[in-house]
Amino acid sequence: MGFKVAILEGDGIGPEVVNCARKVLEAISKIFNIELSFEYGLIGGAAIDKFSKPLPEETLSLCKESSAILLGAVGGPKWDSLPTNMRPEAGLLALRKELDLYANLRPVKVFSELSDSSPIKNIDGVDILIIRELTGDAYFGEPRGIFEKDGELFGVNTMQYSQSQIKRVAKFAFEVAKSRKKKLTSVDKANVLEVSALWRKVVSEVAKDYPEIELEHLYVDNCAIQLIKRPKSFDVLLTGNIFGDILSDEAGALSASLGMLPSASIGSSYALYEPIHGSAPDIAGKGVANPIATVLSVGMMLEYSFKNKKAAKLVEEAVSKALKAGVFTPDICPEGKKPSTTDEMCNAIIKALEEGG
Ligand code: NAD
Repeated sequence: MGFKVAILEGDGIGPEVVNCARKVLEAISKIFNIELSFEYGLIGGAAIDKFSKPLPEETLSLCKESSAILLGAVGGPKWDSLPTNMRPEAGLLALRKELDLYANLRPVKVFSELSDSSPIKNIDGVDILIIRELTGDAYFGEPRGIFEKDGELFGVNTMQYSQSQIKRVAKFAFEVAKSRKKKLTSVDKANVLEVSALWRKVVSEVAKDYPEIELEHLYVDNCAIQLIKRPKSFDVLLTGNIFGDILSDEAGALSASLGMLPSASIGSSYALYEPIHGSAPDIAGKGVANPIATVLSVGMMLEYSFKNKKAAKLVEEAVSKALKAGVFTPDICPEGKKPSTTDEMCNAIIKALEEGG
């Protein structure tokens, strides 16, 4: 069966890292005999320049008729003075909303070749998959705004989750946990917040359908500590939108560079794969961007959209092999080693893929 991949390169280093990820997909398609086609669309600053809007209808239609979406990054100083709803980032937020991508997956895995660059000691073997609910919580709850009452200003946001929103992301997380180490940590603030009390109740109910999965509940403040103290004890970490925003950045800092961290945003009908970093205007066009985050994002595409775990594993092994061979872009280059370019890193990954990881 063939798959069509929508490619949205975006801005800054977006096209540079996506170019490498596409080459990786092409190599994988030959090895595993997967029929793949690619179609490009504009988003972010590139779309503003051509269509005066960050998410043109053409791009949205392309995404809706594709099997998966690969995105680089959006934004840059050229568009910084535009009103918020016209800026490149608004295109990405609109895309996530239009496609109802409710589960954001961020794996945090530290490659042994880079463990010395982590701020944490004994980091080897850390393998956490953070699943953050993306459609609810304080970011979307109503009422919201800045209101005046009795001559004083009040800032208001509403932390809100429906039972069904919690249930669908919890089911998703338990399903994913089945194919991993079978441990799920659910993070909330149920000792203080009603919304968290409901979160804990619904997650516990869903857990009854998954007796093989060990369920742990942690309060978010304790979780922030445990991620540093015992990162290896986590497997799947499930949490809401606002706690997930903060904890996934904290966990991401365990890795050597932003250039190493992939992500997937998955809904009932669509899935978007992208590195977590931005468009890195400071290094754009210099040929030194680290493509690994985007390459690992297509690894996630292979696993979650194309259900080919073997191919996904091969991508990860190829990255590891390229690092073992001593190829490092400047952001991850150990002291005393010669940094490589984006193309050199990409070639090393493709070579490793062709040699079987
Ligand atoms: P950034 O992630 O672009 O860059 C932060 C730092 O990390 C920079 O020094 C950059 O050079 C480095 N870096 C990032 N990715 C790298 C890679 N692959 N290889 C090597 N180094 C890498 O964040 P920023 O500077 O705060 O934002 C720049 C622009 O990107 C802004 O316009 C921002 O709004 C946008 N942004 C977009 C996304 C997205 O598209 N998902 C995410 C974050 C920021």
